[in-house]
Amino acid sequence: MSDQFITLKIDKKKHIALIAHDGMKHSLIQWCEEHKEILQKHSLCGTGTTARMVSMKTGLSVKGYNSGPLGGDQQIGAQIVEGKVDIVIFFSDPLTAQPHDPDVKALLRIAQVYDIPIANNKATADFLITSKYMDEEYQHQVMDFQKNVAERAAKL
Ligand code: PGA
Repeated sequence: MSDQFITLKIDKKKHIALIAHDGMKHSLIQWCEEHKEILQKHSLCGTGTTARMVSMKTGLSVKGYNSGPLGGDQQIGAQIVEGKVDIVIFFSDPLTAQPHDPDVKALLRIAQVYDIPIANNKATADFLITSKYMDEEYQHQVMDFQKNVAERAAKL
């Protein structure tokens, strides 16, 4: 791997963010119920309404950020940048226009930049949550941002 990358590790205990658009909230709650045994071993957070509904209906403890349209997706994106969110389970609604579509795109992009596993539908979420890596530490290559900034600041 080039020296532009550094190795980061995702601990055995994962920080998982849960997000669901309104039309998908019940599917996500059902998914959380199905995988409750696994989810309760990890640390959960989510956008405001999703976090509250998942907590209320499943009994799982989920830290809530702002509601998605009020900046919650961006808060979760910032947590990815800070290395405080390791996985995103995002039941987005492919059939309904969202007022905060730019924030959703930004979240998908930042997850890609930081090589964060992100599930956009139930099948992907099922594969992800049952992966052997859920029970292990995982190492991945992420761009060395400090080096990148130092080199660009010197060159531009
Ligand atoms: P919510 O936000 O959980 O507050 O509804 C989700 C979203 O639409 O991004």
